Amino acid sequence: MNLEDEAFLVIRFGLGALCFYAALIGWRMGMGYVRHPDRRRRGFIGAVIMVLIALLHLGTGLDESIRKAGQPVPEMQWVWLAVDFLVPLFFLRMAHAFAARDRLEAELAAAAEHDPLTGLANRAGFERLALAALAAATRAGKPSVAVLLDVDHFKAVNDGWGHPAGDAVLRGLARAAKGGLRPGDALGRVGGEEFALVLPGLTAQEAQPLVDRLRAAIAAEVPHPGAPARTLTVSAGIAEASANDPTALESAFRAADQALYTAKQAGRNRSHVAGLADA
Ligand code: GH3
Ligand code: MG
Ligand code: MG
Repeated sequence: MNLEDEAFLVIRFGLGALCFYAALIGWRMGMGYVRHPDRRRRGFIGAVIMVLIALLHLGTGLDESIRKAGQPVPEMQWVWLAVDFLVPLFFLRMAHAFAARDRLEAELAAAAEHDPLTGLANRAGFERLALAALAAATRAGKPSVAVLLDVDHFKAVNDGWGHPAGDAVLRGLARAAKGGLRPGDALGRVGGEEFALVLPGLTAQEAQPLVDRLRAAIAAEVPHPGAPARTLTVSAGIAEASANDPTALESAFRAADQALYTAKQAGRNRSHVAGLADA
């Protein structure tokens, strides 16, 4: 084997290694597409094609450098070598672009289900969390509780201290509410100053002291911009959802909304359980 044969062999093997690497990337991307069978298939097909091309490079390298050792490598072989480099490089460039698209898709999906002000789930995101919480309780044969929390006289915060102060209150409230929940509870911001919870595994009566503790924590942790003369209070409507059926949650939240209205009518800064006398 002369120097030219050696160089050709090394370059072809390098090219083969690059193709194996591209195949590995394609395979791993394919494995990641759990919810996209078509993308998964394309990743695998791309990986197989790259392996075949890698084997072709190894074969050509061995043929030209070992079997035809000592004979000059035809000029066209060198030209093809340059062209062949483009194939795995193009494959890797595509994989890079697909990965960027996947990241963007994931970001958009997360943004579609989150409220940018508080970082909590928005109405759409909450629906998914709530159904999951309800399903977990139903599997355990337990009821769940739907809760609506609404800030008392929030409009007065905006009117008196400005919208940014109102926003700060909402962010603080979200933080306090998150801190007071158990793992598995669902929480979301479902309206301007309205927050929803699903507490799985509890009856409405069991949930009420928990909700009242949460209200107390919010009052203690979230400063009213007009403090100390004023404190921030929230009212809550509570209703039980008994079955693992999306309409069970819907009707529970309708009942919780009624209960919230009752709590507001009764003077605010309190919770009310649907179907019970005022608490
Ligand atoms: P109540 O005790 O009966 O609940 O009275 P309230 O003033 O809290 O209720 P109301 O529904 O009259 O006012 C809600 C206010 O929430 C009105 C709206 O301007 C404000 N709001 C809604 N979304 C946002 C937000 O993202 N940021 C801020 N700062 N205010 C918001
Ligand atoms: Mg309000
Ligand atoms: Mg409201």
